[in-house]
Amino acid sequence: MDTVKYILSDDRIPRVWYNIQADLPKPLPPVMHPGTGQPIGPDDLAPLFPMALIMQEVSQERIIEIPEEVLNIYQQWRPSPLFRARRLEKVLDTPARIYYKYEGVSPCGSHKPNTAVAQAYYNKQEGVKRLSTETGAGQWGSALSMAAAFLGLECKVFMVRVSYDQKPYRRGMMEAYGASVTPSPSNETESGKAILAQNPDSTGSLGIAISEAVEVAAKDPNTKYCLGSVLNHVLLHQTVVGQEAIEQFAMADDYPDIIIGCTGGGSNFSGLVFPFVGRNLRGETETRVIAVEPTACPSLTKGPYAYDFGDTAHLTPLVKMHTLGSTFVPAGIHAGGLRYHGMAPLVSHLLQLGAIEAVAYNQLETFAAGVQFARAEGILPAPEANHAIAAALKEALRCKKEGVSRAILFNLSGHGHFDVQAYLDYHAGKLVDYEYPEEEIAMALAGLPSVGA
Ligand SMILES: *Cc1c(COP(=O)(O)O)cnc(C)c1O
Repeated sequence: MDTVKYILSDDRIPRVWYNIQADLPKPLPPVMHPGTGQPIGPDDLAPLFPMALIMQEVSQERIIEIPEEVLNIYQQWRPSPLFRARRLEKVLDTPARIYYKYEGVSPCGSHKPNTAVAQAYYNKQEGVKRLSTETGAGQWGSALSMAAAFLGLECKVFMVRVSYDQKPYRRGMMEAYGASVTPSPSNETESGKAILAQNPDSTGSLGIAISEAVEVAAKDPNTKYCLGSVLNHVLLHQTVVGQEAIEQFAMADDYPDIIIGCTGGGSNFSGLVFPFVGRNLRGETETRVIAVEPTACPSLTKGPYAYDFGDTAHLTPLVKMHTLGSTFVPAGIHAGGLRYHGMAPLVSHLLQLGAIEAVAYNQLETFAAGVQFARAEGILPAPEANHAIAAALKEALRCKKEGVSRAILFNLSGHGHFDVQAYLDYHAGKLVDYEYPEEEIAMALAGLPSVGA
């Protein structure tokens, strides 16, 4: 039935990544140079990324082989388990069959090492000595720090100031792995200095931290930049998750009717759903696919589909994506990994094509869902993953109302062991919902570049 043959190693780890670009009915809009307004070429990206990753970024090959050394590292936590949430089904008294793929089994507790290891590997191959990156709450920073340690590379992490001060545990983990962690905005870069000159008390944002990390890489030939989400090659590396799920569903003699993932930049969602969406696009299946985002940062559900920068200081090329504007700073929701102004171009494109759906949930209902899940299944979810759970619960209750049994699969992208303060606050009644920040978004969108408009 499947025209893609997923090649699994003896221990059932996929030996290839699946590139959805090969199955798109319409190609992705090109990445644009902000100065010339023309599409950029591989050489334009060479100061920032190793050529192997740039070629993956634009590849139209359906299947890309995973290097042996990366596979060997994957073996430590892959394949990740697929669980049937039987106790949750019972509590909900639903005829739905609820499954979750659990990425919290990686050493860092999330899906992020799946790409961190691959990125560190290709950089090492091309002689790079140091990686620079940004991190919000610290999940990506800890994944890349670990991968850098595995491959013998240095790692420089710009951590959003508010998290650096308020969530020190992930920073401690990054430093344990040997990374150097700097609060952003910092005085180490021109981008950081410019922000601090305007506002010495700036608490930072992902967009600002990206500017700093990109600047450091652009200025040092031995340093290259790594991004934990959004880019095509990052989403590509995550597709081991969905390929494993396909194999595991076959073993369970079932198949999902609905697949759900939370979306910050889009990587854990894409990793799970792309192999399934590829089947949909090739006309083999008709699985519903739902992306879930926070109402405080609703790029897919409220942001226009437009060319925008990936960072605040406008150092990156322009990509076409659903965006809230590169200067938008979302409210301090606990799902730090979902506070990015844009969405992966591939995810944005699939929404445009009608291949996926998108919904937004408020903070309190996601925590209510996460707590209900924890009581039934025992795993304390990352606040980001609570968004996927909230949508899964809603679909399960819809099954109950309609009296039909559907198989629902969601990605439990990580555990919440570093987010216990958020759960303490939730139980103390201190968490609040944030209204859709109409005015700030309008202001940020007013600054959208005119390229390709
Ligand atoms: C980073 C993160 C996310 C959000 O990033 P995506 O690229 O959208 O996946 C979601 N869940 C967890 C656990 C994360 O660490």
